[in-house]
Amino acid sequence: MSEYAVLRASLKERLEEVEKLYPGASYNAEVEEFRGREYPQLNGVTYLDHAATTLYSCSLIDAVSSDLKQNLFGNPHSLCPSSLETTRRIQDTRVRVLHLFNADPEHFDVVFCGNTTAAIKLVADGFAAQSGKSGSTFQYRVHADSHTSLVGIRPMAADSQALDSDKMGEFVRSKRKNEFGLMAYPAQSNMTGQRHPLSWAGDLRRNRPGWYTLLDAAGLVTTSPLDLSDASTAPDFVALSFYKMFGYPDLGGLIVRKASAGILRSRKYFGGGTVSFVINPFDHPSNNLPHAIRKPGDPHEYLEDGTVPFHSIIALDHAISDHSRLYVNFKRISQHTQALGTLLFEVLKARKHGNGTDVVDIYTDQHPSNTACQGATFAMNLRKADGSFVGFNDFLKLASVRDIHLRTGGLCNPGGVMKWMDLSEWEVRKNFAEGKRCGDEWDLMNGKPTGAIRISLGAMSTLDDIARFLSFIDEFYVEKAESLSATELFSSSSGTARISKISIYPIKSCAAFDIPPSRAWKIMIQGLEYDREFCLIHQGTGKVMDMKMYPKMALIRPSIDLETRTLSISCQQISKALRIPLDDNIPTHSHSITKKCNSKVCGDTVVVQAYSEKRISEWFSNALGVPCTLARYPSTPDGGGRYMKNHLRQSNGEIPIALRNESPILVVNRKSLDPINEMISTTGGKLSDISVFRSNIIVDGPQPFDEDKWLQLQFRNSGSTIQLLGPCRRCHMICIDQTTSERSPEPFVTLSKLRTINGKVYFGQHGTFISESDDQTGFIQVGDELDISRIDLDTSDTDSGESCSSGNTAITADTAVDTAEPAVKQEPAQASCILQ
Ligand SMILES: *Cc1c(COP(=O)(O)O)cnc(C)c1O
Repeated sequence: MSEYAVLRASLKERLEEVEKLYPGASYNAEVEEFRGREYPQLNGVTYLDHAATTLYSCSLIDAVSSDLKQNLFGNPHSLCPSSLETTRRIQDTRVRVLHLFNADPEHFDVVFCGNTTAAIKLVADGFAAQSGKSGSTFQYRVHADSHTSLVGIRPMAADSQALDSDKMGEFVRSKRKNEFGLMAYPAQSNMTGQRHPLSWAGDLRRNRPGWYTLLDAAGLVTTSPLDLSDASTAPDFVALSFYKMFGYPDLGGLIVRKASAGILRSRKYFGGGTVSFVINPFDHPSNNLPHAIRKPGDPHEYLEDGTVPFHSIIALDHAISDHSRLYVNFKRISQHTQALGTLLFEVLKARKHGNGTDVVDIYTDQHPSNTACQGATFAMNLRKADGSFVGFNDFLKLASVRDIHLRTGGLCNPGGVMKWMDLSEWEVRKNFAEGKRCGDEWDLMNGKPTGAIRISLGAMSTLDDIARFLSFIDEFYVEKAESLSATELFSSSSGTARISKISIYPIKSCAAFDIPPSRAWKIMIQGLEYDREFCLIHQGTGKVMDMKMYPKMALIRPSIDLETRTLSISCQQISKALRIPLDDNIPTHSHSITKKCNSKVCGDTVVVQAYSEKRISEWFSNALGVPCTLARYPSTPDGGGRYMKNHLRQSNGEIPIALRNESPILVVNRKSLDPINEMISTTGGKLSDISVFRSNIIVDGPQPFDEDKWLQLQFRNSGSTIQLLGPCRRCHMICIDQTTSERSPEPFVTLSKLRTINGKVYFGQHGTFISESDDQTGFIQVGDELDISRIDLDTSDTDSGESCSSGNTAITADTAVDTAEPAVKQEPAQASCILQ
């Protein structure tokens, strides 16, 4: 039996035990039976991001498609027969939605809107409109564990406070009169999956007349029923997103308790369809006659601005039917996901490193068997055996390679992150001052995570999703035995090396141009001539495009002809190559139709010259199927003013890098690929070509990973040297085959096992060229012989506590960039652009 099969079998046994806690939970086998048919998009994929969106079934899409094909749906605001048909369907769906939550249409209405956030904003606008002379009059209390969309109401309130669960419990129980306020909280935290009591709404109404409850139910309803059968204790407003319940359609709703709806009527704005009288222009604005009168009736009449998303509402009708056909009801989904969640939670909690320390911190104080307090969404971070954290971005990269889909980062829950990451306000502000931004790659700052890994289950999750996730954790993150010390495996050697290949990437993120061996190529302090001098920019965003987002860029092949001074670009799909004069930037040249453009590369803002000629933008747009054009970066001696970040060791003064990723040149040792491929071949994976590392200079070193010790490579026949600046951090970009642009898990998976330091994976060395000549330039050629000077690794670097996660590596504390420069500041931002 394979390791996976053993793990799965033990999980299955345990699941059968766990399911006894949840009567009706045992439909894992049913889902397994229909999943391949209903959710073919899940084949080979481990999808654990249902809290972001769950998935739609094939039969739902078929049902919607045939309905739309067979029927004529007019705009509901017209009054022709097709319009009436639409209106009828919308009315029916409205009632079905209410029934889904046991909400009596006599007491409740549902207002369709874009998403949960739009629903929340409708409520906020209503409260804000009740303003006095001095502005807003309403008080706001929001749970500390709230989504950003609830936090966003705070600036609109006269007085706003965030409360934790204990404080909120006290708040709803303490009696107070003559106040006007809104209390908002999530029924289930979008971050930790913790659930908060529905009873707060009834308590608040009883004890604090004048206060209203806005329940953010988006997290809860993905996997759980919501019962609004008692209108007297139900929340006044419930916001939710239907795509989180059914995967489709992209639609949100605000369920309004009719008795509380008056506040929403007072919002200032009105849109088409929400008024029964309107006059424009109005001649006598001072006569105090109204220029519009809002529609009377149910909240949706005066809150749904303009044409409702009627095709989506029709699709929602099908979604409800299809979902109940597949899963019966949300009670059953809840039992199923709680059972799987309990299993996952228990096993993760129990995972230990070889030295007995915990592998996972799970951020909740609840147990999922307590369904009222914890749902099937979990936030966590992983720890290494020494107790330090694994960066969630490094984790995400590896998970992506294994096709595991989940959410990492701040999770749109600022209060939850502060609480669970133990970040005080000043730390969050300091991190911001140091450059941390929502959604970026800075996962660890000063040793603390800036966010978390979130795993969330849904109706179509199965035991295999859990097993695959756990097997992934076991494979990469459980340190079984004491690690080998860093230096044990390699003794130093002497010797020389030869340059076996020189490559440049004239267009950033596109294919390499290999310098013909017969040719000496110019090299300068900022790197090889024409390396990353051009780039592609997206016409919509103006951003420099990279291979991570557009793997097909690897198929665009630039070459440089110095005799004719042209850059030629070819691509298989397009028969005709594109030629661009290299000296195009000379203003007298007829081709110089470029315009300046602010763009972004690796987080830096740069000014590039974009080619506005149609033949150029069309060529690239056709090649990639993306609206884009070519741009050039000025090749001035200062590299256009973009400099290397100083986290790499030994940068004396500023080193210009233009559009290069992190440093002027990247050097790899061809020999180092051998042990990686050997290990890949034992697992039956796809062997890697050295080209995936997108280096500039390939050296035939004396032995694998010798480059970790290199300080300098000195050219035999000139006084010039390449000074090494530190190891190059890698991400799953190295999984893109440079000839086919296809992705595979290798070599990243194997490299991660073989060459990980502090959760980061390294291959190759950054470098810069240093010449004796006055202009700091020189020429290099394939075959050049290099004398290697090394650093002495026989110092007691193992004392620093740095060692490999497993396997044999020669990276040591001395050369690992993150230990050379303890502030993690510069680092994560670059991870996004390594190897583009
Ligand atoms: C997803 C989610 C939201 C935001 O939903 P949108 O559809 O993006 O507006 C708000 N709150 C919670 C608890 C969520 O899970």
